[in-house]
Amino acid sequence: MSTLRVAALTERAAGERRVALDPDGAKRLIAAGLEVLIEAGAGAGAWFGDESYAAVGARVVDRETAVAEADLVVSVGPPDPELLGQLRKGQGYLGMLAPLSNPALVRRFADQGITSISLDGLPRTLTRAQSMDALSSQASVAGYRAVLVAAEHYDRFFPMLMTAAGTSKPAAVLVLGAGVAGLQAIGTARRLGAVVSGYDVRPAAQDEVKSLGAKFIELKAGIAAAGSGGYARELTDDERKAQQAELADHIARHDIVITTAQVPGRRPPLLIPAEVVARMRPGSVIVDLAASSLGGNVEGSVAGETVRTENGVSVVGATNLPARLATSASQAFSRNVSALVIQLTTDGSLDIDLTDEIAQGVLITRDGEIVHPGVAAAVSSSEGTGS
Ligand code: NAD
Repeated sequence: MSTLRVAALTERAAGERRVALDPDGAKRLIAAGLEVLIEAGAGAGAWFGDESYAAVGARVVDRETAVAEADLVVSVGPPDPELLGQLRKGQGYLGMLAPLSNPALVRRFADQGITSISLDGLPRTLTRAQSMDALSSQASVAGYRAVLVAAEHYDRFFPMLMTAAGTSKPAAVLVLGAGVAGLQAIGTARRLGAVVSGYDVRPAAQDEVKSLGAKFIELKAGIAAAGSGGYARELTDDERKAQQAELADHIARHDIVITTAQVPGRRPPLLIPAEVVARMRPGSVIVDLAASSLGGNVEGSVAGETVRTENGVSVVGATNLPARLATSASQAFSRNVSALVIQLTTDGSLDIDLTDEIAQGVLITRDGEIVHPGVAAAVSSSEGTGS
């Protein structure tokens, strides 16, 4: 069998500055016996020059050559329609494909005979898969960046400062949702000198929040909503109402609130209704990491925009924060991609063994079939309802 050729292209999604392979990732793949092609300029948005790829033995080529010669295209996001049209039968495409929310794309991959591999299906609790966990690496970047976004919009200091010109109070920061992004936000806000509190519906989050030196907000309603796989489950209507009612006073007395709550396969839970935003002090800032076209954790947040409310609260609908820390995000992503590619190859060729848990989680389509059972079910139900 011939040596697998792996290609990384320039990401074309609006605002995307990450690249799926950095020079270090290219070097790892080459050391594992693979060939690497890089579209000229692909790393520029993350400050990796073509020469740094060439220096580790990657071939820097134009886009057409990279697509034509690649056995496996590695990417951050799904392909745009033009690229999808250029992919050919038997070629592989690996990235964060969000297959559960992209049934039409999955169907196209299957129909075109493409081997599609999605990093978001990785079994995250498996120790040997941790180096491949792009959801975690990118959530961690997003949590860090969210605090910097909040600081940009906040017209006061984060730390307590005692100077000849007076003393400033430290910012009071509340982080709702203490998963990977939330914990990184807590740590970052603490390092900037804020007084930080955290809250989550999973009881396990309590110790993690406290271990970062933040206060954990315990609700009297005693909601414990751990779901499967370390994730949260969706709250019942009664739980949601109780949560919103009790969180309201906490939210209103904080200067900055960062929300990161997600429930797999569901719309993000609404944690902050508009009437609670209206109770916050002028100059307060909310950063909603869950903001998307489906709605976010905050009523009135708009994905990709900053809304200033009548009472002077900035509500930031934060989208794709990892692209705004493109170098670090790409370095981590590239490590995840190269580890997964190496996991899926034997002697320089793609060798996806479906008896392995990692392969079962990430392989979406192959040889014209949707092989991932969960994705296959989601695609057929979406096609069944005609949506
Ligand atoms: P996520 O992005 O799905 O959700 C973010 C957070 O929102 C979660 O902590 C969740 O509990 C919380 N949340 C959901 N509904 C909420 C609500 N109504 N109110 C408040 N909070 C709410 O989660 P994630 O960051 O991807 O991580 C989820 C879990 O997976 C965590 O337990 C994490 O430690 C675990 N994890 C484990 C590993 C590993 O073992 N290697 C790796 C990655 C993640």
